[in-house]
Amino acid sequence: MYVGRFAPSPTGPLHAGSLVAALASWLDARAHGGRWLVRIEDVDTPRCVPGADTLILQQLSACCLYPDEPPLWQSNRGGLYQQALDQLIAQDLAYSCSCSRKDIEATHTARGVLRVRGRELPYPGTCRPENNPTHRPDGRPARAWRFHTARAALRMPATAGACALENGIIKWHDRRLGAQQQNVESAVGDFILKRADGLWAYQLAVVVDDAAQSITHVVRGEDLADNTPRQILLQHALGVPTPAYLHTPLVLAKDGEKLSKQNGAEALDLTDPLRTLAQAAKHLNLRPPEDEDSLPDALARWVREWVEAGMGRLG
Ligand code: GLU
Repeated sequence: MYVGRFAPSPTGPLHAGSLVAALASWLDARAHGGRWLVRIEDVDTPRCVPGADTLILQQLSACCLYPDEPPLWQSNRGGLYQQALDQLIAQDLAYSCSCSRKDIEATHTARGVLRVRGRELPYPGTCRPENNPTHRPDGRPARAWRFHTARAALRMPATAGACALENGIIKWHDRRLGAQQQNVESAVGDFILKRADGLWAYQLAVVVDDAAQSITHVVRGEDLADNTPRQILLQHALGVPTPAYLHTPLVLAKDGEKLSKQNGAEALDLTDPLRTLAQAAKHLNLRPPEDEDSLPDALARWVREWVEAGMGRLG
């Protein structure tokens, strides 16, 4: 049974870019005769804007994109994330880390590794248990938890469903982008599962919830595509299935950057929801609505088109 989801972070209202992801995930679920869920990803509380969750749900309703179950809020689900972290600790796949950002930079500088602007360097592994056998919590109260990507990759089977592991490289298939690959250890390093300030990291929360909600198909914006190998590695470590992935084309701002709440994307104009949805549909290479179309008519037409195009040939 197909189960899809739309998982917005309530850092502001939906904008033209997030509506594309919402519409694509809804259409894909409907085209498969599946269920469509909405999950509010509010773990990064400092970035959340009070009331944005309610606003997002209202915007989805105004567009007739109704979830098949009441939405979930990740902020209520810390117990589940803790269970997953405990499991990873028990498997020696998570370790505590007391490095500050400065410590990490100093290690890179000492090794002569230069930071490329706008790109975070992989964690140098300072607190990995094998690098630091006598390592004990050093009295600094706040400690983060990191995922041991090298060990996790060693334990991942060479072929696992639609994914494969070859020389530490995870190979996976995206329904639009085709064959993808990444060596998680060298590209991103041992990423954070729980932050030193106690907040849960997106990677852990998304994997736990996709599994807990039995999500079979993830449809989301292309900016998240390079998170997928991290999530696949975590899924294997936790023994949960890997969904199928489809990453949708991004809506770019005038400066060519991805349209985002951060670069001032305007909130959706929902005085005429059909017109606004038609723009999102156009971005997905779907035809404009007919003159007489109501909003539900147009949505039904796009579902048919999505099926005919082989579940979205997004160009
Ligand atoms: N909450 C994430 C975002 O709004 C999306 C996560 C996902 O779809 O996996 O960017």
